[in-house]
Amino acid sequence: MKTLNNQTALVTGGSRGIGRAIALAMAEEGANVAILYAGNETAAAQTVQEAEAFGVKALSYRCDVSSEQAVKETVDQVLKDFGRVDILVNNAGIVRDGFLLSMKEEAFDDVINTNLKGAFHLIRQLYSHMMRRKSGRIINISSIVGLNGNAAQANYAAAKAGIIGLTKSTAKELAARGVTCNAIAPGFIHSDMTDAMPEKARDAISSQIPMKRVGQPQDVAALAVFLAGPGASYITGEVIRVDGGLAM
Ligand code: NDP
Repeated sequence: MKTLNNQTALVTGGSRGIGRAIALAMAEEGANVAILYAGNETAAAQTVQEAEAFGVKALSYRCDVSSEQAVKETVDQVLKDFGRVDILVNNAGIVRDGFLLSMKEEAFDDVINTNLKGAFHLIRQLYSHMMRRKSGRIINISSIVGLNGNAAQANYAAAKAGIIGLTKSTAKELAARGVTCNAIAPGFIHSDMTDAMPEKARDAISSQIPMKRVGQPQDVAALAVFLAGPGASYITGEVIRVDGGLAM
């Protein structure tokens, strides 16, 4: 028996990396999937095609999650297309790294607007829908950097720490309405985002991972599927690391 049969999952940043792995893992468990992406149409189409191979309905939507208006229009369209959203995964994220003294205000704002405000917009657009139906699972992708901070990532760490506050506040507001909200804090996961780092920096982090391997998007996806499924119905406001022990 598939654990997410007949449910609909909306996954932001579902075209690539961790979001793509989450969308596909949920599709494999029987969920219909709506994926949001920023601009990479080819990657989004590829994810849709692979999700459909699991026999579910899958559609992609170009939507900049930092825009409240775009999120509103897209969520309205997703609800028209699928009729419901049971699972929201706020995964879309970017980096604009730099040390504080050289970090431009724009780099700070871009990261906050996409990584933190994006999740805020999505939660707000689906709040009443989930509340009315007295069910829903919200899963926000934070980072161990949001727990511990990181040099040259003040903007990113602030956004990811913000995600934890947003998660716990949402969990408290919606707990009595049957909606859970949890955060996943991945460590160092193989994706385009980490591939873009200088090799020296990648090696330095990898060598510190107690489990001696870089994580794969599927490692994060497995937890997202669990948090969306029946086994997690009494878990809310939690932050769970998926990091091979890196931030322990
Ligand atoms: P990738 O860079 O591989 O993928 C990013 C995804 O986000 C893409 O699907 C991209 O769409 C989408 N996206 C970016 N900006 C926007 C936007 N404004 N609106 C809508 N979608 C957008 O990242 P990862 O898979 O590595 O990361 C996914 C999440 O996990 C992020 O929140 C990241 O911070 C977090 N994370 C990652 C870690 C890692 O080690 N990789 C560690 C900890 C947390 P498109 O394809 O169209 O560009």
